[in-house]
Amino acid sequence: MPDKPAASRRGFDGFMRRVDTDALKVVRRLLGAGHEAYLVGGCVRDIYLGRQPKDFDVATSATPESIRRLFRNSRIIGRRFKLAHVFFGPKIIETSTFRSAPREAEGEDLLIRTDNEWGSVEDDAMRRDFTVNGLFFDVEARDVVDFVDGMRDLDEGLIRTIGAPEVRFREDPVRMIRAVKFAARLDFDFEPDTWKALLAVADDISKCSRARLLEEVYKLLRGGYARRSFELLVETKLFEGILPSYVKLFGESMDEARQGLYDAMIEAEDDLPPGVDPTAARLLWRYLDALDMTIQGTGHVPVNGVLLAVLFAPLLVTDEELQSRQQLDRRIDELMSPVGSALGIARRDREMARQILMATRRMLSSSGRRRSNLTDRDYFHDALIFLGISVQATGDGRNELGRWKRMATAQKEAASDAPPNRRRRRRGGRKRRKSRGGGENRRPRPSDG
Ligand code: ATP
Ligand code: MG
Repeated sequence: MPDKPAASRRGFDGFMRRVDTDALKVVRRLLGAGHEAYLVGGCVRDIYLGRQPKDFDVATSATPESIRRLFRNSRIIGRRFKLAHVFFGPKIIETSTFRSAPREAEGEDLLIRTDNEWGSVEDDAMRRDFTVNGLFFDVEARDVVDFVDGMRDLDEGLIRTIGAPEVRFREDPVRMIRAVKFAARLDFDFEPDTWKALLAVADDISKCSRARLLEEVYKLLRGGYARRSFELLVETKLFEGILPSYVKLFGESMDEARQGLYDAMIEAEDDLPPGVDPTAARLLWRYLDALDMTIQGTGHVPVNGVLLAVLFAPLLVTDEELQSRQQLDRRIDELMSPVGSALGIARRDREMARQILMATRRMLSSSGRRRSNLTDRDYFHDALIFLGISVQATGDGRNELGRWKRMATAQKEAASDAPPNRRRRRRGGRKRRKSRGGGENRRPRPSDG
């Protein structure tokens, strides 16, 4: 075993003002019961950078069972990685026990399968993915506790793995997508060895479970930095490892598709000569830009159906053969089905993306009946969000967007005037069947990331 790393500490007085009071309660109660406890990970990183953390995580020497006993408002979750959730209303403070990196695996296969070996706070720092994510905050001393030179990398704006990058990426290939996510979000560079390893290990991404891959893809799309994230996925070739059936849609062969995406990405898009039809690849980058602007501008995170529509719309706009509704419907299905089954996309999300893409066509066609019942649909609100993204991406349909927004406002006002039991009645008074399942309308929780 190498020597234990020494921690460096640096005091931060302003830190405490930004710490969530419920997270503080959790840490203090654990300390009071004689355990070690720190704030850890993303929240320390973000406060250090002067950003507002999304959520607060706690690391402690207490086992999940002891945490459970200390907090009536808690629950143990996870199998591969057991930890406790402490609830404060809708807020969750994720509280995990210090654990050590898995012992050196035998042979070639480094993939981590279980991850419940308890350890010390130093061990817990060393098992984390990136130096910028490996910092602890000691709320009593008001110090950042740093075993991994994370503060140096935060100062220099670098994503660097803790330990040998190739090993860390092989152990858990999802870390490669996480590296991309943090580099894009924080506008950081990669430390050179970390970058080299990313390129060398990218192929391993296909070993990950599709559920984890899908969740990471959604996170990239929801994060507000999708454009930069997907650029990095193209440059590292992670994209074609994660979504081969999707990337292939951009060219005759994988090489051609990759090259097309790459060329469109580095092109100065505003220089597009007027009248030139954008390719699907160009449109993808524009859609991702528009998605980011929408999320950053409104703080609203679109539902998965909208995110999927963003991915598939660029492939539809360039298609001239989609004259009729049926043709469009069939084409959407052809595009989404292989990708959907490869990644295990929920039927509900796929169906919503389809409805949104179909509705967009209707909303944009001037021949569409004005008194359409689209505004009554469950997905209308999300279709309108998508239409906003689409208008930004393509430059087409500003007037229609304005018109549909006015209709939405008028409808909202009418609904708030109507007695509650009549609100959802369709025009013409036709009654709906009682239960509609209701699943497809779920909004993402703020923690969906
Ligand atoms: P975000 O702001 O997106 O929540 P985060 O850094 O909090 O960023 P999480 O996914 O919430 O990221 O994970 C919390 C912490 O757990 C990380 O900061 C990191 O220390 C550790 N971690 C998460 N996933 C991994 C992984 N795959 N391998 C090693 N450590 C990980
Ligand atoms: Mg987090």
